[in-house]
Amino acid sequence: MGIEIESLFTSALGLSAPWRVEKVNLDTAHRRIDFDLTCDAKRLTCPACGLSDQGIHDRQTRDWRHLDFFQYEAWLHAQVPRITCSGCGKTTQMQVPWARAGSGFTALFEALALSLCQELPVRQAAALLRCADKQLWRRIEHYVGAARKLDDMSEVKIVGIDETSLRKGQNYITVVHDLEKKRLPFACEGRDHQTVVDFAADLKAHGGEPEQIKHVCQDMSAAFAKGVGQALPEAQISYDRFHIVAMANKAMDEVRQEETRTQPKAFKQALGGNDRKLLKSLSWGMRRNPDGWSQKQLYAMHWLQHSTLKSARAWRLKMALRTVYANAAQHNNEAQVKAELSSWLSWATRCRLEPFKKLAKTLKAHLDGVVRGMLDNRSNAYVEAMNGLLQQAKRAARGFKTATNFIAIAYLRMSKLKHLPSNPMQPATPKYNVLIHRCL
Ligand SMILES: [Zn+2]
Repeated sequence: MGIEIESLFTSALGLSAPWRVEKVNLDTAHRRIDFDLTCDAKRLTCPACGLSDQGIHDRQTRDWRHLDFFQYEAWLHAQVPRITCSGCGKTTQMQVPWARAGSGFTALFEALALSLCQELPVRQAAALLRCADKQLWRRIEHYVGAARKLDDMSEVKIVGIDETSLRKGQNYITVVHDLEKKRLPFACEGRDHQTVVDFAADLKAHGGEPEQIKHVCQDMSAAFAKGVGQALPEAQISYDRFHIVAMANKAMDEVRQEETRTQPKAFKQALGGNDRKLLKSLSWGMRRNPDGWSQKQLYAMHWLQHSTLKSARAWRLKMALRTVYANAAQHNNEAQVKAELSSWLSWATRCRLEPFKKLAKTLKAHLDGVVRGMLDNRSNAYVEAMNGLLQQAKRAARGFKTATNFIAIAYLRMSKLKHLPSNPMQPATPKYNVLIHRCL
């Protein structure tokens, strides 16, 4: 190849003196293109202490995988100088501008890999890039760690805390989301009170103070409440409506399951013999909003409402609690919320349905937080949605090997980290206005 090709690639690779492309070797049979880079300088600045005009001790061969060139795998090779310094006495390898020290990939390749891992399971991204997924996991860990070190948490005030599972039924991850900025400042292994204490420490390490957290939205986990009490002195807890309505649904399901077991005849007769599908319609109809009922659910629910079954009462109780929440969201009036909730609580206490009596007791024990959760219109709906995405990512990855991997992916995708390298693949900018018109 002629001299023009080398200088073309020197500028395409973004190299400047003392570095340049010395030789380009395109091997179509092996589907690769190799670039030999050379450093023209005879004397260099010491990377360790910054003293200029130091002698070169020796040169060591290094190779880097770069972004593909057309359909060819691209590799850079260079004899990297080691500098012997007369000032500090150290022999140090020169830092090359296209890669981070010790990496076998160029910085642009790593940036592309990171962008792919924000959208794809790591295994798939690795297959697409033709490298080992282990290599990508190491990069994710490095870049996420570096970006998190620079993350600013001084503005975090309102957080939503929740847990999500690493494996089915075991190994939990606690996630702490900033509900205002809609991002994930903190995640860690476990789901005990220590996770909240660790969050407070992490906040301090990132320019924040535990006192700045004014509000925590959470489920009724005693462990989180204990952690908040210990480590976030100014925070008021509000119990998330999503979890409380879910608790009411669970109580209702318990009543129905118990009753279908003990009185199967009552259900069978009214629903038309042994129609299992109708029983299923009933259980779904009870959980759903009435405006979403199918024809079969409508029929089953119509029958239920005209029955004297405990399940009918359980359903009315659940719907009434939902109404209390809906009203609260509308008028946002503390006195009115308290009045409506206490009348629901006294109904639930007197209803002779064990699961609802238990629920009423729990809500009474956490009354202030429950009322707060109704009033300020805050909820962990966002946190739940993010947990849904994390579980989706987990399924797509066919599970994460370690909690560290799970947390790294959560940070990579949900923390909106400002100091991650950006995707090098950007649209070309048009050279002339006339080109824009033609493209349109
Ligand atoms: Zn030196």
